[in-house]
Amino acid sequence: MPASATLTRRALFASLAATVARPQATRPPNIIVILADDQGYGDLGCQGSPNIRTPHIDRMAREGARLTSFYAQPLCGPSRAALLTGCYPVRNSLMFNHIPRATTGIHENEVTIAEVLKQRGYSTAMLGKWHLGDAPRFRPHRHGFDSWFGLPYSNDMWPFHPKIQRTPGESPRLTAARTRAEFTGYDGQGQTYPTDWFPDLPLMQNDEIVALNPDQSKLTGQYTGRALDFIRDNRSRPFFLYLAHNMPHAPLFPGADFAGRSVRGRYGDCIEEIDDSTGRILDTLRQLNLQNDTLVVYTSDNGPWAPYGIDAGNAGPLRGAKGSVWEGGIRVPAVFWAPGRIPAGLVSSEIAATIDLLPTAAALAGAPLPPHTIDGRNLMPLLSASGARSPHENFYYYEVVLQYTPQGGRPVNHQRLAAIRNRQWKLTLPERSQPQLFDLLGDVGESRDCAAQHPAVALSLQSEAERFDKALRGQLRPLGAL
Ligand code: MG
Repeated sequence: MPASATLTRRALFASLAATVARPQATRPPNIIVILADDQGYGDLGCQGSPNIRTPHIDRMAREGARLTSFYAQPLCGPSRAALLTGCYPVRNSLMFNHIPRATTGIHENEVTIAEVLKQRGYSTAMLGKWHLGDAPRFRPHRHGFDSWFGLPYSNDMWPFHPKIQRTPGESPRLTAARTRAEFTGYDGQGQTYPTDWFPDLPLMQNDEIVALNPDQSKLTGQYTGRALDFIRDNRSRPFFLYLAHNMPHAPLFPGADFAGRSVRGRYGDCIEEIDDSTGRILDTLRQLNLQNDTLVVYTSDNGPWAPYGIDAGNAGPLRGAKGSVWEGGIRVPAVFWAPGRIPAGLVSSEIAATIDLLPTAAALAGAPLPPHTIDGRNLMPLLSASGARSPHENFYYYEVVLQYTPQGGRPVNHQRLAAIRNRQWKLTLPERSQPQLFDLLGDVGESRDCAAQHPAVALSLQSEAERFDKALRGQLRPLGAL
């Protein structure tokens, strides 16, 4: 798109904002989104974990709401795209994981939660993993965040990936990573990478490289310290904080104060450190008397990364894991905390998703929605009263073929609508076999195909899936490209 067209579209959004946004008697609420990486559905005390201690997030759930049918996306990159733009990531062509030095990323016309909230004067910060393109124009501070400190992509995309080819005299860090991965049973699905596949991993402060191949055991602590500073610095104005932890995505690096504490090993140590971090954030909000002016959301980007064995999470009663559209790949823990706005102890099994965070934030802030189609809906009615219905009639599960592309090359972007859910019913649409129907109320583990017993339900869902997919593909928006 030519620059003039881009300017016109941005100007339109700004003028729309001026028209729609009205001064409010009270300040709009602060919004904090805490995103864990690859944390399974069962990996919180309040989600039934028998061996990971999360007292702070459990308390957050008791004081707020827990959504038990909350959907992310099957992989890290698409999940972040969905959360930040309010769209199924097929819609904005972000349905794959970017690798280092990619020539693509989030398009400049996409509108993130941070950009929505900037329209209402919010101070915005991001801490942690981005994964929507690492070239300068795709970075967070060019997509609505006043500042960013973190990693541009996954923490395993570095020279110490366990599947890097063995060479004589390789670094002890690589040997240690390989030893750990072999201990967990990780086989990398037969993949190996050449020694120069991943460049040194930069820890970034906006465009500045703070460290290369940083000590990852310090990351959660560094993010937490900066989160607390940001909250304190912005106590007197509305703010948006997006805290996207790198943990517990393999390789696992718990902080020194947490290593060895959990009976669930390194994975449990990392979650317990994130729980402690969350507790410190909530305590700070209380100390600053901001607890009635803040929404805090805790969730994960996808299910457990099963090939990593004991270094992976647990999806609890759900079938499948990261990368799949079985519930265990995409249904994630979700806790919403906003005293005074969300009643304490609310638990809902209604359909909700990370795509809903943008319109929910916009509604809370009194900010206009983006000028293009989004898929998310405002969750505040669902979160405000027990027994409320989901704003979604259906949820659509898009599957992606994980395709790392040659460095500098164009991504191979293959995705398909692989399942649909309508209330209790989920129809899966395998590529090479008959659709299967599951009753998620009676069979959350998706173990009994009941399509033969309910052919009309299966037919109706299949037809709705085809209708939605066709309509969506008629409105695809482009990927950003260098
Ligand atoms: Mg992930």
